[in-house]
Amino acid sequence: MRLAERMSRLGTETAFEVLVRAKALEAQGREVVHLEIGEPDFDTPANIIEAACRALREGYTHYGPSAGLPELRQTIAEDMTKSRGVPFNANQVVVTPGGKPIMFFVIMALAGSGDEVIYPNPGFPIYESVINFAGAKAVPLRLAEDREFRVNIDELRSKVNPRTRLLIINSPHNPCGSVLSQEDLKAIAEIAIKNDIMVLSDEIYCRMQYEGEFNSITQFPGMPERTIVLDGFSKTYAMTGWRMGYGVMPEPLAAQVAKLATNVNSCTATFIQVAGVEAIRGPQDQSYKMIASFQERRDAIVKGLNEIPGVHCLLPKGAFYVFPNVEEVVKRGKFANTKAFADWLLQEAGVAALSGTAFGEYGEGYLRFSYANSLENIGKALGRMAQAVEKLG
Ligand code: PLP
Repeated sequence: MRLAERMSRLGTETAFEVLVRAKALEAQGREVVHLEIGEPDFDTPANIIEAACRALREGYTHYGPSAGLPELRQTIAEDMTKSRGVPFNANQVVVTPGGKPIMFFVIMALAGSGDEVIYPNPGFPIYESVINFAGAKAVPLRLAEDREFRVNIDELRSKVNPRTRLLIINSPHNPCGSVLSQEDLKAIAEIAIKNDIMVLSDEIYCRMQYEGEFNSITQFPGMPERTIVLDGFSKTYAMTGWRMGYGVMPEPLAAQVAKLATNVNSCTATFIQVAGVEAIRGPQDQSYKMIASFQERRDAIVKGLNEIPGVHCLLPKGAFYVFPNVEEVVKRGKFANTKAFADWLLQEAGVAALSGTAFGEYGEGYLRFSYANSLENIGKALGRMAQAVEKLG
């Protein structure tokens, strides 16, 4: 079979590959602690499940508008207005099957051959993959540990040129758990305005910020007209498998993104959208309870990792990931690279984690753990990792 050339430019998300390998080990009778995949281990709140069941019984089994059901778009616009403090209307909202399609549709709509897109590295791997797929040039913006994995503004300035069409930011950040400060956002906004660049602000972890208030770049004057906010239900309401997310953007772009949705998926499942209205309008206590438990787990995993000789880990301010520096252990164990160490950790200790390089070349020397797992499992993983690392001498 001869594939189209563009397929050679498409990347992937390693978390799913590691999950498959971990499951294969489990099928052989091995016990694995899963800290590789980024999803809450909690169940979707019962009121949301009930709303979906009710919607199915009420006949929400047909196609809906590509941009989303009017009631959900309106609910999201109101929620965004409240949470971001800037007025939004329903026409700016496009609902998609997960937040991920917003990345794909927005990059496809804004960047092509000859254009450049700046993206965080380490960062969510789909950004780089889709930029390349779209035929644009992917320009990595390094997030370094000595800057707490925040954007280096001078470096950002140096990467901007007249071909720069789009800048992607993600705060709270996957995989580093870092959060952009109000000053960072202000400086980024100034650069975007001065150079007429659109900004895709991936705010999928906006509720999972453990220190300080959440800030969005769309709050700065001049930014609502050039910002696409990506958010969704997967993380906030433990709804990863439902597949529903959204983008909030200038109206003309929303119309184009909806046209892409028409070409790809027609619409997001309508009964799920009805449940989305309940998720936003209904009680929020379970969501907040889940987030409080993430914070407890964060503290436990950071403490445990820092007790392993050769490992050091910053305290992340948001999301549910830690990004420990394991350079010394990789060297001590004479591993070819961090990926080889992550593979060994799965095989030797039954701990599934991702190499930092699953998030770009600047992730070398780091591992990513998702701590969306029970304190008991986190403790087990830390114990096994400490024992395995000790064997390296
Ligand atoms: N953005 C980031 C940074 C993520 O980590 C993820 C999921 O892992 C997503 C977006 C997409 O989430 P979903 O498509 O499940 O809504």
